[in-house]
Amino acid sequence: MAITDRVYVKNARRLSSQMNRNMPRNIFHGAALDILYNTDEIENLDSATRDQLMEFVTDFLDCGCDDAPYCGCAERKFIRHVIDLRRQGMSPSRIVESLEADYGLYAYEGDVLDFLDTTVRSLEAVEEVADTLAEYETRDEARRVRDDVVGSR
Ligand SMILES: [Zn+2]
Repeated sequence: MAITDRVYVKNARRLSSQMNRNMPRNIFHGAALDILYNTDEIENLDSATRDQLMEFVTDFLDCGCDDAPYCGCAERKFIRHVIDLRRQGMSPSRIVESLEADYGLYAYEGDVLDFLDTTVRSLEAVEEVADTLAEYETRDEARRVRDDVVGSR
């Protein structure tokens, strides 16, 4: 499963009753993205929760695609965000804390760790292919990102 399938809204049940609409636990569930993209129903939430979810909307649901929010941009941006946090030197547990503090989301440390491991393996594959194709800039960039993600975990 992708990391985006394993990121959850805190207190989904309480949110559902405040909005009078079912809020799925997974924030990237189609129905959850629908609620967030629309933003009307978010207005009914307590201000702390609303602010966190609006932060999520601003950071990840700001594209202008015709098929938004189902275009995949939100997932791509979120994945990039998690990789950026790691490149800043955060451990998986700090990444989990950051997602909670900024967006009111929760994830499990083990899932974040799995995601980072998968990312490292994908980047290794990119390096190899780019090297074979003599695409050295791509290879070197993949290596730089990989070194950052591996870090000193
Ligand atoms: Zn998009």
